[in-house]
Amino acid sequence: MACLQSASISILVNGSPTKEFKLGRGVRQGDPLSPFLFILATEGLNALTKSVLKNNMFEGVEIGRDKSFIKTIGDGGNTAFWSDAWASSIPFEQSYNRLFRLERNRAVRVKERQLWDGNTTISAWDWIREPTGRTLTELQQIIALIASIPMDHSKSDSWKWELSGNGLFSTNKLSKLIDSKVFIWRARKKRLPTLYELDKRGIDLNSVRCQLCDDDIESVDHALVFCKHVFEIWEKVFDWWGVNLLSSISINELFQGSSNSGMTEFGSKLWQAITWATGYLIWHNRNQKIFNNKAWTAPIALCDIQVKSFDWVAKRCREKKIDWHNWVHNPHIFLV
Ligand SMILES: [Zn+2]
Repeated sequence: MACLQSASISILVNGSPTKEFKLGRGVRQGDPLSPFLFILATEGLNALTKSVLKNNMFEGVEIGRDKSFIKTIGDGGNTAFWSDAWASSIPFEQSYNRLFRLERNRAVRVKERQLWDGNTTISAWDWIREPTGRTLTELQQIIALIASIPMDHSKSDSWKWELSGNGLFSTNKLSKLIDSKVFIWRARKKRLPTLYELDKRGIDLNSVRCQLCDDDIESVDHALVFCKHVFEIWEKVFDWWGVNLLSSISINELFQGSSNSGMTEFGSKLWQAITWATGYLIWHNRNQKIFNNKAWTAPIALCDIQVKSFDWVAKRCREKKIDWHNWVHNPHIFLV
């Protein structure tokens, strides 16, 4: 402890050392104690994180509802027959464990078990002993599964990222997805840095009143829903979908994806995308206005929301084909 408290340092500014000053926290740069302190702190953090996870006090951010990456089988040369999940979401070695134990070459590729003669595919097996009884049933199930998987023998195997339109993975796109998910999480927990929230956390501010309307303090509810400039945008969005907007609606209700008024599960998913896109853009544009003095009017807002939500929904929707014209003019047809 003494070495932490008594250390004084000076730093080089343009090559000359400054006056010595005492370290308030931390250690000198390059101090060998630094990595040990880091390990001590991360060990503690890791133990805490594990225990909150165990007690269900913390949930991660889920990206994509089921599988985000899908393997597309070409000639099968890069795919392990038993240990890759290529024909179903669980690898064969787990779902057909008995049969797997009869396999002579456990690392065999799909290509070697599905031979292509230029016209048709022929299954080729190599068992320690012939499957009978239950293992034979497993084999028949595997054959049926494989038959439903299209293989394109002129190409090699590849991965497709389901969350982007072109199937290509990009960290930029992923970070944007996480960003919007984290935004909703923060909004629902009232953890957005609005003036009122910053003030509650002891940050000294001149005023906590909304900088857009000056009518009320800027709480999360005000900034995202009740500010008159923002409420006008929600009205436009609700109008667009032909849904009635209640004046007392809460953020949680808005972002939940409403299941009321006989909406189908698919309809609720869509509706959730709309409200999330709206909330996300409202916050983004609140910051643009405050920090860059860029104005955002309700008609432009509606257009931005239509584009953003279409971008989120249309590319990822496997249930229905969503086209831009109907999205803008007859969106309610997608809700039923
Ligand atoms: Zn306001």
